[in-house]
Amino acid sequence: MKGKNNFFWRRISFLFGFSVICMLIVSVAYFAGEQVAFMGTEQDEPASAKDKITVIIDAGHGGRDGGASTESGVLEKDLNLAVALKLRALLSELDVNVVMTRETDVMLADENSAHKKRDDLAARLKLAREQENCIFVSIHMNKFPVEKYSGLQVYYSKNNAESLLLAEAIQQKACEFLRKGNARTVKAADSSIYILHHIEVPAVLVECGFLSNPEEAALLQTESYRNKLAAVIFAAVAEHLAEAQ
Ligand SMILES: [Zn+2]
Repeated sequence: MKGKNNFFWRRISFLFGFSVICMLIVSVAYFAGEQVAFMGTEQDEPASAKDKITVIIDAGHGGRDGGASTESGVLEKDLNLAVALKLRALLSELDVNVVMTRETDVMLADENSAHKKRDDLAARLKLAREQENCIFVSIHMNKFPVEKYSGLQVYYSKNNAESLLLAEAIQQKACEFLRKGNARTVKAADSSIYILHHIEVPAVLVECGFLSNPEEAALLQTESYRNKLAAVIFAAVAEHLAEAQ
Protein backbone atom coordinates (compact mmCIF):
# COMPACT_ATOMS: atom_id res chain seq x y z
CA MET A 1 0.00 0.00 0.00
CA LYS A 2 2.80 2.36 1.03
CA GLY A 3 4.59 1.76 -2.26
CA LYS A 4 1.40 2.38 -4.21
CA ASN A 5 0.74 5.51 -2.15
CA ASN A 6 4.21 6.85 -2.91
CA PHE A 7 3.69 6.16 -6.57
CA PHE A 8 0.31 7.92 -6.41
CA TRP A 9 1.78 11.08 -4.80
CA ARG A 10 4.73 11.06 -7.14
CA ARG A 11 2.25 11.01 -10.07
CA ILE A 12 0.23 13.84 -8.47
CA SER A 13 3.26 16.03 -7.81
CA PHE A 14 4.62 15.29 -11.30
CA LEU A 15 1.27 16.26 -12.88
CA PHE A 16 1.06 19.35 -10.68
CA GLY A 17 4.60 20.41 -11.52
CA PHE A 18 3.97 19.69 -15.17
CA SER A 19 0.81 21.83 -15.19
CA VAL A 20 2.60 24.69 -13.42
CA ILE A 21 5.34 24.63 -16.04
CA CYS A 22 2.72 24.50 -18.81
CA MET A 23 0.90 27.45 -17.28
CA LEU A 24 4.17 29.36 -17.03
CA ILE A 25 5.03 28.64 -20.66
CA VAL A 26 1.53 29.67 -21.76
CA SER A 27 1.67 32.85 -19.65
CA VAL A 28 5.13 33.83 -20.91
CA ALA A 29 4.06 33.10 -24.47
CA TYR A 30 0.88 35.11 -23.97
CA PHE A 31 2.62 38.17 -22.53
CA ALA A 32 5.43 37.95 -25.07
CA GLY A 33 2.78 37.70 -27.76
CA GLU A 34 1.05 40.77 -26.39
CA GLN A 35 4.37 42.57 -26.38
CA VAL A 36 5.14 41.57 -29.98
CA ALA A 37 1.62 42.51 -31.00
CA PHE A 38 2.03 45.85 -29.24
CA MET A 39 5.41 46.48 -30.87
CA GLY A 40 3.86 45.37 -34.13
CA THR A 41 1.17 48.02 -34.01
CA GLU A 42 3.80 50.60 -33.22
CA GLN A 43 6.17 49.60 -35.99
CA ASP A 44 3.83 48.49 -38.73
CA GLU A 45 1.41 51.37 -38.56
CA PRO A 46 2.06 53.54 -41.61
CA ALA A 47 3.19 57.09 -40.86
CA SER A 48 0.09 59.24 -40.65
CA ALA A 49 -0.38 61.98 -43.21
CA LYS A 50 0.52 64.45 -40.48
CA ASP A 51 3.95 62.86 -39.83
CA LYS A 52 4.94 62.92 -43.49
CA ILE A 53 6.75 65.82 -45.04
CA THR A 54 4.66 67.89 -47.42
CA VAL A 55 6.02 69.19 -50.70
CA ILE A 56 4.08 72.23 -51.86
CA ILE A 57 4.29 72.65 -55.63
CA ASP A 58 3.46 76.16 -56.74
CA ALA A 59 2.73 76.56 -60.45
CA GLY A 60 3.34 80.27 -60.92
CA HIS A 61 0.66 82.62 -62.32
CA GLY A 62 -2.66 81.30 -63.72
CA GLY A 63 -6.05 82.54 -64.89
CA ARG A 64 -5.93 86.19 -65.88
CA ASP A 65 -2.24 86.32 -64.96
CA GLY A 66 -0.44 84.64 -67.84
CA GLY A 67 3.05 85.54 -66.64
CA ALA A 68 5.74 85.89 -69.31
CA SER A 69 5.21 84.72 -72.88
CA THR A 70 7.19 83.48 -75.86
CA GLU A 71 7.35 85.52 -79.04
CA SER A 72 4.59 83.36 -80.50
CA GLY A 73 2.36 83.95 -77.47
CA VAL A 74 2.78 80.74 -75.47
CA LEU A 75 2.09 81.71 -71.87
CA GLU A 76 4.31 81.02 -68.89
CA LYS A 77 1.32 79.99 -66.70
CA ASP A 78 0.60 76.98 -68.97
CA LEU A 79 4.22 75.80 -69.08
CA ASN A 80 4.51 76.22 -65.29
CA LEU A 81 1.43 74.08 -64.70
CA ALA A 82 2.59 71.39 -67.14
CA VAL A 83 5.93 71.05 -65.30
CA ALA A 84 4.23 71.22 -61.87
CA LEU A 85 1.81 68.39 -62.74
CA LYS A 86 4.67 66.20 -63.94
CA LEU A 87 6.58 66.92 -60.75
CA ARG A 88 3.52 65.98 -58.70
CA ALA A 89 3.22 62.67 -60.55
CA LEU A 90 6.84 61.83 -59.75
CA LEU A 91 6.62 62.92 -56.10
CA SER A 92 3.47 60.88 -55.56
CA GLU A 93 5.71 57.79 -55.82
CA LEU A 94 7.49 58.89 -52.63
CA ASP A 95 6.16 58.66 -49.07
CA VAL A 96 5.37 62.38 -48.94
CA ASN A 97 2.26 64.54 -49.11
CA VAL A 98 1.99 66.72 -52.18
CA VAL A 99 -0.02 69.94 -52.15
CA MET A 100 -0.52 72.03 -55.28
CA THR A 101 -1.28 75.75 -55.03
CA ARG A 102 -3.27 75.28 -58.25
CA GLU A 103 -4.09 72.29 -60.46
CA THR A 104 -5.89 74.14 -63.21
CA ASP A 105 -5.68 77.45 -65.04
CA VAL A 106 -6.89 79.68 -62.20
CA MET A 107 -5.77 82.71 -60.30
CA LEU A 108 -5.98 82.43 -56.51
CA ALA A 109 -7.81 85.71 -56.07
CA ASP A 110 -11.37 86.87 -55.94
CA GLU A 111 -12.75 87.91 -59.34
CA ASN A 112 -13.93 91.20 -57.83
CA SER A 113 -10.71 92.03 -56.05
CA ALA A 114 -9.07 95.31 -56.97
CA HIS A 115 -5.66 93.77 -56.16
CA LYS A 116 -5.81 90.39 -57.88
CA LYS A 117 -2.05 89.87 -58.24
CA ARG A 118 -1.36 90.78 -54.63
CA ASP A 119 -4.25 88.63 -53.37
CA ASP A 120 -3.11 85.71 -55.54
CA LEU A 121 0.39 85.74 -54.03
CA ALA A 122 -1.00 86.21 -50.51
CA ALA A 123 -3.29 83.18 -51.03
CA ARG A 124 -0.31 81.02 -52.10
CA LEU A 125 1.63 82.14 -49.03
CA LYS A 126 -1.36 81.45 -46.77
CA LEU A 127 -1.71 77.97 -48.23
CA ALA A 128 1.98 77.28 -47.51
CA ARG A 129 1.62 78.58 -43.96
CA GLU A 130 -1.24 76.16 -43.32
CA GLN A 131 1.05 73.17 -43.92
CA GLU A 132 3.21 71.68 -41.22
CA ASN A 133 6.60 70.13 -41.90
CA CYS A 134 6.82 71.25 -45.50
CA ILE A 135 9.05 72.56 -48.25
CA PHE A 136 7.87 74.94 -50.99
CA VAL A 137 8.87 74.63 -54.65
CA SER A 138 7.65 77.31 -57.04
CA ILE A 139 7.81 76.77 -60.81
CA HIS A 140 8.30 79.73 -63.17
CA MET A 141 9.77 80.62 -66.56
CA ASN A 142 12.19 83.50 -67.07
CA LYS A 143 12.21 86.32 -69.59
CA PHE A 144 14.75 89.03 -70.40
CA PRO A 145 14.86 91.85 -72.97
CA VAL A 146 18.01 90.33 -74.50
CA GLU A 147 17.61 87.02 -76.38
CA LYS A 148 21.00 85.52 -75.63
CA TYR A 149 20.42 84.63 -71.98
CA SER A 150 19.36 81.08 -71.19
CA GLY A 151 19.52 78.42 -68.50
CA LEU A 152 17.60 77.25 -65.45
CA GLN A 153 18.25 79.30 -62.32
CA VAL A 154 17.06 78.69 -58.77
CA TYR A 155 16.19 81.44 -56.29
CA TYR A 156 16.03 80.67 -52.59
CA SER A 157 14.40 82.25 -49.55
CA LYS A 158 16.82 83.75 -47.03
CA ASN A 159 14.41 83.01 -44.17
CA ASN A 160 15.36 79.36 -43.70
CA ALA A 161 18.88 77.87 -43.99
CA GLU A 162 17.53 74.76 -45.71
CA SER A 163 16.32 76.81 -48.69
CA LEU A 164 19.88 77.34 -49.94
CA LEU A 165 20.66 73.60 -49.73
CA LEU A 166 17.52 72.70 -51.68
CA ALA A 167 18.25 75.40 -54.26
CA GLU A 168 21.82 74.17 -54.73
CA ALA A 169 20.64 70.58 -55.14
CA ILE A 170 18.26 71.59 -57.96
CA GLN A 171 20.76 73.96 -59.61
CA GLN A 172 23.53 71.35 -59.56
CA LYS A 173 21.33 68.63 -61.07
CA ALA A 174 20.06 71.04 -63.74
CA CYS A 175 23.59 72.12 -64.72
CA GLU A 176 24.70 68.49 -64.82
CA PHE A 177 21.76 66.80 -66.54
CA LEU A 178 19.42 69.32 -68.16
CA ARG A 179 21.51 71.53 -70.42
CA LYS A 180 25.26 71.25 -70.64
CA GLY A 181 27.02 74.61 -70.40
CA ASN A 182 24.56 76.16 -67.95
CA ALA A 183 26.90 77.92 -65.55
CA ARG A 184 24.19 79.68 -63.56
CA THR A 185 24.37 79.62 -59.78
CA VAL A 186 21.66 79.96 -57.14
CA LYS A 187 20.52 83.42 -56.13
CA ALA A 188 19.06 84.76 -52.87
CA ALA A 189 15.58 86.18 -53.39
CA ASP A 190 15.04 89.82 -52.53
CA SER A 191 11.78 91.54 -51.69
CA SER A 192 10.75 91.51 -55.36
CA ILE A 193 9.92 87.80 -55.01
CA TYR A 194 6.99 88.19 -52.61
CA ILE A 195 6.51 84.59 -51.46
CA LEU A 196 10.19 83.79 -50.93
CA HIS A 197 10.63 87.10 -49.12
CA HIS A 198 7.85 86.32 -46.63
CA ILE A 199 7.75 82.53 -46.30
CA GLU A 200 9.26 80.86 -43.21
CA VAL A 201 9.69 77.25 -44.41
CA PRO A 202 12.42 76.01 -46.82
CA ALA A 203 11.43 77.55 -50.14
CA VAL A 204 12.83 77.88 -53.66
CA LEU A 205 11.65 79.31 -56.95
CA VAL A 206 12.84 77.54 -60.09
CA GLU A 207 13.09 79.73 -63.18
CA CYS A 208 13.06 76.78 -65.58
CA GLY A 209 14.41 78.66 -68.58
CA PHE A 210 14.15 81.84 -70.66
CA LEU A 211 11.10 82.30 -72.86
CA SER A 212 13.04 85.19 -74.46
CA ASN A 213 15.69 82.77 -75.76
CA PRO A 214 14.25 81.16 -78.95
CA GLU A 215 16.18 77.91 -78.56
CA GLU A 216 15.24 77.43 -74.90
CA ALA A 217 11.65 78.58 -75.48
CA ALA A 218 11.30 75.89 -78.16
CA LEU A 219 12.66 73.25 -75.77
CA LEU A 220 10.30 74.33 -72.98
CA GLN A 221 7.37 73.78 -75.32
CA THR A 222 8.25 70.12 -75.84
CA GLU A 223 6.91 67.45 -73.52
CA SER A 224 10.18 65.53 -73.52
CA TYR A 225 12.11 68.55 -72.21
CA ARG A 226 9.47 69.24 -69.56
CA ASN A 227 9.72 65.56 -68.51
CA LYS A 228 13.45 66.05 -68.10
CA LEU A 229 12.90 69.27 -66.15
CA ALA A 230 10.45 67.62 -63.75
CA ALA A 231 12.80 64.65 -63.34
CA VAL A 232 15.75 66.91 -62.47
CA ILE A 233 13.71 68.83 -59.86
CA PHE A 234 12.27 65.58 -58.50
CA ALA A 235 15.70 63.96 -58.13
CA ALA A 236 17.05 66.99 -56.28
CA VAL A 237 14.03 67.23 -53.96
CA ALA A 238 14.16 63.49 -53.20
CA GLU A 239 17.89 63.66 -52.48
CA HIS A 240 17.42 66.74 -50.33
CA LEU A 241 14.62 65.16 -48.29
CA ALA A 242 16.66 62.00 -47.74
CA GLU A 243 19.64 64.03 -46.51
CA ALA A 244 17.55 66.39 -44.35
CA GLN A 245 15.98 63.52 -42.34
ZN1 LIG B 1 6.76 83.86 -63.39
